[in-house]
Amino acid sequence: MPRWFFCSRFVAAVFVVCLALTSSYGQNSKAPQPVPLPPSIPPPIDTPYPGTISLSVDLTNVNDRVLNVRETIPVKPGKITLLYPQWLPGTHSPSNPVENLAGLVVVADGKRVSWVRDVVNVWAFHIDLPKGATTLELTFQYLAPVKPQQGRISTRIADLTWNSVLLYPAGYFARRIQFAPQLRLPEGWKFATSLEVKSQNGNVVQFQDTPLNTLIDSPVYAGVNFRRVDLSTGPDNLVYLDIFADKPKELAITPEELQYHKNLVIQAQKLFNSRHYDHYDFLFSLSDTVGGKGLEHHQSSEDGTRGNYFTDWAAGIAGRSLLPHEYTHSWNGKFRRPADLWTANFNEPMQNDLLWVYEGLTNYYGNVLTARSGMRTPEQARDVIAQIAATFEISPGRTWRSLEDTTNQPIISSHGAIPQSWSSWQRSYDYYPESDLIWLAADTKIRELSKGRESLDDFAKLFFAIDDRSYITNTYTFEDLVKALNTVQPYDWTAFFRMRVYQVAPQVPVDGITQGGYRLVYNDIEPEWMKHMDPSRGTSFAASLGFVVKGDDDDGPKGTITEVWWGSPAFKAGLTPEMQLQAVNDQAFNTSNLREAILAAEKSNAPIKLLLKRDKEFLTLTVDYHGGLRYPHLERVVSQPDLLDGILAPVR
Ligand SMILES: [Zn+2]
Repeated sequence: MPRWFFCSRFVAAVFVVCLALTSSYGQNSKAPQPVPLPPSIPPPIDTPYPGTISLSVDLTNVNDRVLNVRETIPVKPGKITLLYPQWLPGTHSPSNPVENLAGLVVVADGKRVSWVRDVVNVWAFHIDLPKGATTLELTFQYLAPVKPQQGRISTRIADLTWNSVLLYPAGYFARRIQFAPQLRLPEGWKFATSLEVKSQNGNVVQFQDTPLNTLIDSPVYAGVNFRRVDLSTGPDNLVYLDIFADKPKELAITPEELQYHKNLVIQAQKLFNSRHYDHYDFLFSLSDTVGGKGLEHHQSSEDGTRGNYFTDWAAGIAGRSLLPHEYTHSWNGKFRRPADLWTANFNEPMQNDLLWVYEGLTNYYGNVLTARSGMRTPEQARDVIAQIAATFEISPGRTWRSLEDTTNQPIISSHGAIPQSWSSWQRSYDYYPESDLIWLAADTKIRELSKGRESLDDFAKLFFAIDDRSYITNTYTFEDLVKALNTVQPYDWTAFFRMRVYQVAPQVPVDGITQGGYRLVYNDIEPEWMKHMDPSRGTSFAASLGFVVKGDDDDGPKGTITEVWWGSPAFKAGLTPEMQLQAVNDQAFNTSNLREAILAAEKSNAPIKLLLKRDKEFLTLTVDYHGGLRYPHLERVVSQPDLLDGILAPVR
């Protein structure tokens, strides 16, 4: 599926929802008791799998998006259960599409043997080995999506995720299963990865033997048009931007844009004061044919956005926090991880209740680093915060569902691709943006109580700058978090988070904004960055009428209502998503005359008349709204210290 898991309600797309692959490197002193697999599947144990598994992936058939796989597994006599990875850590859900695995043929010492899929867990395959068998040869295909924007493989760019192209034996910790991976690329293609190369012969690359957890955490980007940009701050901090684009001209990067990306690495070092990688690779696809992506790994990230990222820099303001967010995950999510998100292999269930830290704190630091690096101006960064708070002000789902409960959303949503009809009431991936506000409240509270001596930057160093250079995952619990915060600044942090995260909390947590020296206001002025929204999302009238509609410059059929806010004026008038807006006050619809109608209604008692079409039915609905355009902004409160400006300013 497209890797834009933005909650459509946050049409402003000011936060990055990303997917990650757990690394589970090495030892883990605080690993929780594993959740059991079905009894038919051997539970993982911490002992080496005997022998090395050879894995050969042929990526040359990009025309059909078909990857051919050959795998050789040393075996002992008896039964073996092979697993297709199910739980992909960054997705926080059992979402690896096993339906795309096809053509599986198993041969034992030259003789074909049958396999039987587990009836409880369909990612597991049981095989009775013939007497005396010493090796299994598997062949199968991974059928990548052919629909543009759904898949991540095209005739010019490929995002190879190893979890798509391997089976592994059940019964062992992932870190104890060694793979020898080999990749055959299309002629002339370049590649980038955090894996180490053992040898290369033409278009065939042999990587160093790698444990399964590291392999799955180390995807490969490949393509025709490639440029590697050095963002390193020195020999002790090697960071690269590996850009793959549909067109050569999309690789062009201006000196100013380059400096923003170098600043990101500089500012991240000042924040975290540590490195948990040998070298870090931003794998970055710029394409209008393969879908966008943001997926964290320990020593790299899978990133993807539209082709104009560098060539039309102003157009990308909304999604600008993509790289800062994914980079932050190297510290929060990969090196340090909630204890119940650590699993021994890729088929044990994960538990997501601390995603408001794993993703929420990452989102906060990611947005802060976006501002500190110069990728967003301070005003744009404040507008982002305003937009998040404003969206929650008009979304009543917080009156019945706690923030903590939304951390179950990846699992809830993994069972089907049916979009939510009323996401402002249902809630979805709110643990990203709502946590932004909560962590801002924590940061400003620390600054306020300590009279500016301490901040969430100090927490970052205390919590993440341990075991410098280590990749061994260090897990944390809620209690660890509270303890570290209390070390930075004593406070009742347990109550602070219980009230905001674990209880139903109808009040929007805007205390971070007010403690930061600002207040949320609305006016008729559309923020500059809102004019550069992703055209696939439509034009937002969320805080006024309460809907988003595809306008003149948006992708898709003009007039399509993509979102209606629960309880909004539009909702009360009877609008629903998927209606087509045909006319406004008897004039053919376009976004300009809709804006004019809203402004006119502000000075009149007459309702706004909308002609809509649903299926073959036409409806005339009237919206009794006179509140103006209402675009959210933050306004300075001079009687309060401007803590927010200090948070967003680069660290010198
Ligand atoms: Zn993330």
